[in-house]
Amino acid sequence: MTDTVIRRASAHPPLGSRTPSRTEDFFDEEQLADLRAYARPVKRVRLVGRAVGMAVDLVLIFVADLGPVLDDAVGGMPWPVRLLVVAGALGLVAQVVQLPFDWWATMVHDKRHGLSNQSPALWVGDQIKEAVLGVVLIGVLLVPVYAAVRGVETWWLIGGLIFFGIALTLNFVYPVLIMPRFNKFTPMPEGELRSRIEQIADLAETDIEGVYTMDGSKRSRRGNAFVAGFGPTKRVVVFDTMLDFPIEQIAQVVAHEIGHYRLNHIPKTFPLAGLQMLVSLAFVQYVGGNDTVLGWAGVDDLGDPAAVPVFVLAFGVPAAAMGLVAAWVSRRNEREADLEALELLGDPTSFVSMWPRFVALNKSDLEPGPWERWNSSHPETAERMQFGLDWAAMNDVPAVAPGPAAVPAVGDDQTSSD
Ligand SMILES: [Zn+2]
Repeated sequence: MTDTVIRRASAHPPLGSRTPSRTEDFFDEEQLADLRAYARPVKRVRLVGRAVGMAVDLVLIFVADLGPVLDDAVGGMPWPVRLLVVAGALGLVAQVVQLPFDWWATMVHDKRHGLSNQSPALWVGDQIKEAVLGVVLIGVLLVPVYAAVRGVETWWLIGGLIFFGIALTLNFVYPVLIMPRFNKFTPMPEGELRSRIEQIADLAETDIEGVYTMDGSKRSRRGNAFVAGFGPTKRVVVFDTMLDFPIEQIAQVVAHEIGHYRLNHIPKTFPLAGLQMLVSLAFVQYVGGNDTVLGWAGVDDLGDPAAVPVFVLAFGVPAAAMGLVAAWVSRRNEREADLEALELLGDPTSFVSMWPRFVALNKSDLEPGPWERWNSSHPETAERMQFGLDWAAMNDVPAVAPGPAAVPAVGDDQTSSD
């Protein structure tokens, strides 16, 4: 394969903007109708879920004065305990409000469309784990920041550094401590696929500690792969749901993921994430200095644990706007990782033909609206396919485009009538 490697020198379509493409070139109307039947109800229910969540938050915070009421209930306790009670309750309420929507999406709609393998017990277990994890994270993040809020004038600067430091640490800790609570990782047995993956890591001059499979199939048939861990614990993980893909298509996914790693995409987003935190916290300070807003929530000082709901709500406002920037950066990085796979493997035909399979497996939404596109962490599927074909044409590498109707059936209940 090495003679086909065109490393880092190839001509390519722009990484920072959309690749002109047409979904109809790759998918026919019947497939699009099937995907629409899955995606549309999900979008509607998700939108309703978000609106209900926001309404409940606003009512609890500004009408029912949730913060002061809870804080009074544990009034005699030290402030970190009061903080945990107020913030934990707020987080739990938010999770409980989403339960029916989540149940419908996973246990009803996904099941109807053959996507979900989840048992009710597993769903309940996940919810409990997420609730516990949520309270722990709230404590880890908010207690040190509140110590700053209560102690110094420029707390938002110190708070930003604390948030940033903790977020950095979580990045290292997450794959090692948290992911194994939800999934099982098994070393991939020796064989053609493992050898191919190790070979790709060699090609990319990236040392990996091992190749693992993850039991994604216990929740859903959706497929993915990723590189987890840092330094000596770095590993390639492939969902067990995609092990029946042709080997060269899995190779494309792995090369893309190793590309993210090699190009330092995660560390490169740290400055932006740090900036986002500072802006969000500066906004919290601005809101926290406004007696009118505090008054609406029945509190008079941001440093009071009763004011945590205002803190959390205000933090989310600039974060939502800046999420658009983060999404743009992410889409650019995705294109760059796609380019890495194309350059590393020099096999645009496998690159392009992998997408219809993914779409069928994951029931991807091929018709996002503008708002969804701006917020999406990944470019649209047709764009990525066209990117591969354009790259091939620009570098005189032969490529065969899969025409419409190339979508293989993946254990789907085609009789579904939703
Ligand atoms: Zn990616």
